[in-house]
Amino acid sequence: MAYYVLMRLRERFAHAARGALGLIFHEACAGCGAAGSGPLCVACMGDVRLRPRNLCAMCARPLDFDYAIETGAEYECGACRADPPPYDAACWALYYEGAARELVHAFKFSGRRGLAKPLALLAGEVLEPWLLARPGAVIVPAPLSWRRLYARGYNHAYLLARALARRTGHEVIEDAVRRVRHTPPQFGLNIKERAANVKGAFCVVKPAALEGRDVIVFDDILTTGATVTELAKVIRKIKPASVAVAAALRAGEV
Ligand SMILES: [Zn+2]
Ligand SMILES: [Zn+2]
Repeated sequence: MAYYVLMRLRERFAHAARGALGLIFHEACAGCGAAGSGPLCVACMGDVRLRPRNLCAMCARPLDFDYAIETGAEYECGACRADPPPYDAACWALYYEGAARELVHAFKFSGRRGLAKPLALLAGEVLEPWLLARPGAVIVPAPLSWRRLYARGYNHAYLLARALARRTGHEVIEDAVRRVRHTPPQFGLNIKERAANVKGAFCVVKPAALEGRDVIVFDDILTTGATVTELAKVIRKIKPASVAVAAALRAGEV
């Protein structure tokens, strides 16, 4: 991570520590387990990589030229121009690797729901300006099946979206979309299998809350994008003003 970004994030973490987050700073580092230096120690935080700047504005995959950086303009990749996805824009913040992966695993699978705030701080470095450029948009976190929600006790995507939205002022609607069938985990499936796995899995149950609005579908990790793509397709049918997708982390080829 660039030195100036690391310094700014450390400042944000330190500021948070003086507030409501104070307690969790007595926890172990989620990245390396160092006692008393949670949620992430300085070394692990330095290991977190932010997304590159030259990404396609529509699908958020890397562009193979740097013109976007030089001009500050937004560009769409050739694939999106030829065959646009069912959403208008996409954004993600951190690479799903190393300490960032450990942090999100502790948040999702070890019951450390308080890690939503430090994760939102890290991802917010990229996502906050992107969200603030979309005032009035409503955030719809990817829903879990009742079975997984019962097992985990919380929807991690909702907690993360809420922590981000507290800093940007966006409205988050947790129950606008429901998962109408339980699907096996996407882990280990290829692109086609992932798309088939989530096809028909979602249903908009509060169309009036989304109709005519700018909607941002939010998930914790973007891999092939199968889940957010299916959600965007379903939401598009009820005529929102626009649909964008956002995630805290990106796994896979990027
Ligand atoms: Zn550490
Ligand atoms: Zn693209």
